[in-house]
Amino acid sequence: MSDPPRSPKEARRLERLKQGSRAVRDLRPRASAPRRVERPPPVLGSVAAGTSDERTVVLSKRAVDRLAQGHVWIYRSDVAAPSTLGGGEVVRLADERGWFTGKAFYGSTSQIAVRLLTREDEPIDEEFFVRRLAQAISLREIVRPDPERRGAARLVHGEADLLPGLIVDRYADCMTLQTLIEATDARRDLFADLLQRLLAPRAIVERNDVRVRAHEGLEQRKGMLRGGDPGPVEFLEGEVKLVADLLAGQKTGAFLDQAENRIEAGRYARGLALDCFTYGGAFALQLAPRAAQVIAVDISDQAAAQGREAAARNGAHNVEFKVANAFDLLRAESEAGERYDTIVLDPPAFAKTKTSIDAALRGYKEINLRAFHLLSPGGVLVTNSCSFHIDEAMFERTVLQAASDARRSVQVIERRGAAKDHPTLLGVPETRYLKCLILRAL
Ligand code: SAH
Repeated sequence: MSDPPRSPKEARRLERLKQGSRAVRDLRPRASAPRRVERPPPVLGSVAAGTSDERTVVLSKRAVDRLAQGHVWIYRSDVAAPSTLGGGEVVRLADERGWFTGKAFYGSTSQIAVRLLTREDEPIDEEFFVRRLAQAISLREIVRPDPERRGAARLVHGEADLLPGLIVDRYADCMTLQTLIEATDARRDLFADLLQRLLAPRAIVERNDVRVRAHEGLEQRKGMLRGGDPGPVEFLEGEVKLVADLLAGQKTGAFLDQAENRIEAGRYARGLALDCFTYGGAFALQLAPRAAQVIAVDISDQAAAQGREAAARNGAHNVEFKVANAFDLLRAESEAGERYDTIVLDPPAFAKTKTSIDAALRGYKEINLRAFHLLSPGGVLVTNSCSFHIDEAMFERTVLQAASDARRSVQVIERRGAAKDHPTLLGVPETRYLKCLILRAL
């Protein structure tokens, strides 16, 4: 059919042609004879053959490898973008030879310049987003079936649902929407419309009053997108009634990523229980039915006040809220020789940046050490870390050091992560931040 290849590179090219790879198809001029493939790669910013007139961003080899390994973020130093390209646009991605690599949201401000939407050459239009949303929702129907809409669920978890920069939570029949990057912010109304069409919620509240938006040059904003202010919305977590004030609350504060861990922790509760970093008492209230008494500790008065209301709403008379620094309380209790049968540690992220890892590990070690001192024989510790910069191995090593220092042998009953409606993306460690160990001190 053709001349023998002149070089190994040529041979590989011909092999790819024979396999009819998508990249080659992409390069093939639409109107020309299929066998003529000698076409120069698309020029930067030009319109490549394909599904749309989006502009092209060229990726470095390193970036292409990163995508091939499953990642979805590319940093600015690894892209060449047309100078007139605006933040928030959908772009075609090409490797340095011009081969199609995917389509992505482009950001003009954040260090993350490219967030992958698809590896296919497909139109990024309303139908595309409907399919992505439906795909996200279908997972929740499996892992958190809730036909009566009495519970809460994360419906869209950003990059992990291949909808980068979009977070949607449902609380009973209401929703909150966060558009955290330029591209989703520019399409805020589209997403609100599509959610309204797909799920018909009573209200959609915008909660874009979050600091991460600053990296994208986006302002803080909150308000109603659809429907009227629903006021405090009651929802169930297992058997426990919780309330989220979607519009007026400081933040929704429901920490839905911990929902399954809280319910699971409840199964192990007994005797005297201690819930440190309790916020609105969500762990404490799961412990209450099986524990004799629960002490719930938070440094914030407001959190404790919310917790007391929540306990009253659930008729949980055995939960006592204390406003205290958990570090001080744990030290004082262990020095006083107190004993607890169940302890939960759910602190805020101690390592917010890479540089704070060491200090964070000291923090985790300290609270876990105190907890092991306090646990009665056979007592259960539910210990959590939501610091992305500290991975599972580091966290487990730190907890082990704490156990050794306390001279306790410790069984691992469960190694858990975020709830199933917060999926992680294989190849994107950034989506896998929450660690929850359920341990028993022997
Ligand atoms: N366990 C909660 C979420 C905790 S969020 C739940 O499942 O819903 C972390 C909480 O830790 C916040 O409420 C914050 O006020 C509290 N906190 C932060 N530092 C603290 C400290 N040193 N002592 C006690 N509470 C603290």
